[in-house]
Amino acid sequence: MKSKKKFKIFFWTIVIVSLFYVIKSYSFQHINVNNSINNIASVKNALEDNPVSLNDINTDYGKSASVLEEKANILIVPGHEPGSGGGGAEFGSVYERNLVVEIGQDLQQFLQTNPRYNVNITRDNKSWNLTFADYFKNNLNDIIAWEKTAKQTASKLVYLGAKSAPIIIHNTAPVNIAVRLYGITKWANENNIDLMIHLHLNDYPGHSTRVAGIYSGLVIYTPAIQYSNSATTKDVANAVFKRLALYNPISNFPLESSGMIDDPELIAVGAYNTSDVASMLIEYGYIYEPQFVNPKVRSLALKDLAYQTYLGLQDFFTKNNTVSVTSSYDPASLYIWNTPVKDSNSNPEDIYAMQTALIMDGDFPPTGKSRNECPHSGTFGSCTASALKLFQKKYKIVDENSIGQKTFSLLNSIYTKQKN
Ligand SMILES: [Zn+2]
Repeated sequence: MKSKKKFKIFFWTIVIVSLFYVIKSYSFQHINVNNSINNIASVKNALEDNPVSLNDINTDYGKSASVLEEKANILIVPGHEPGSGGGGAEFGSVYERNLVVEIGQDLQQFLQTNPRYNVNITRDNKSWNLTFADYFKNNLNDIIAWEKTAKQTASKLVYLGAKSAPIIIHNTAPVNIAVRLYGITKWANENNIDLMIHLHLNDYPGHSTRVAGIYSGLVIYTPAIQYSNSATTKDVANAVFKRLALYNPISNFPLESSGMIDDPELIAVGAYNTSDVASMLIEYGYIYEPQFVNPKVRSLALKDLAYQTYLGLQDFFTKNNTVSVTSSYDPASLYIWNTPVKDSNSNPEDIYAMQTALIMDGDFPPTGKSRNECPHSGTFGSCTASALKLFQKKYKIVDENSIGQKTFSLLNSIYTKQKN
């Protein structure tokens, strides 16, 4: 019986992992490049294009203090397309393509508080931003020709690390969506963009859109090492990842457990060496995670993710290498928490804020539990109850069984007081 069960688990793991690759190809519009790398040095030397370097990005950012027109140009790309046929992950009435717009717009607002950034976003929920709508309309043939040349060039070039010509797989992926995705890259190349950030929420194949799945957590995709935008992207992505990983679980899907993945196939991050621009793709978590599903806490959770992403970029540009859960993180700028939490029926935003304070104090998730087991979700369950007990024990609060005034005041002071 036992070994039969083991076999069953093994069998389904293989099925899910295989399906994952197929569906990932569909959802991101993959191409397939044989990415064995023979000679990275000659790859870099032979590259004829002019990718944005770390120095370029830092110079643009650095100059902005005195020269107004020089700014770090950032393009935010909410994943998938606007409108009801826009694709992406779905769970019940929750649509990835809409949630990532919310993250994108929040991120844009945070970035715009720093005059050294110039920020563009490709779309909202309903339509492409006019620049992109016009670009797609007026340059469709150019985009297709450029894409074709890139593929032909890539197939000839040993320096790309491809042993043989890249083979396009999954031709059934809608061609027009792929063309628009290439179009965004082409536009970014032509418009001095330093950095592209593609925003997504994840899903895995083979589970219902009505029942929550078993995986959770974040993963960031970056260009494979043979591409000219790889090194720059990784430096920026590392800073963003470091920040996000302080507050969020890393994906526990077996193929994503490293948290950062080089991908030669994603159009978004520069397949066929098409992107001169540093480009990363962030999967913030799985679409069915409670903080995305519960409408009473969703906006706060999405804003928090946008804020953490902004702080990650700030860490990169200000060369802040020693980040901690409290450094520069000011949750009170996201949500004013002034109502004590009573129990699981309390306002989910207040519960979320309390969990934030417990995270900042190092009590959440409680000892022995992972972030995947205890999501920052605005849900008051056993994780939050245990974390509170730890907190009260640590601060020698002995006369409050649940959240009394002492506990609330102390938590609130941690929440409100930015430590550096
Ligand atoms: Zn997506």
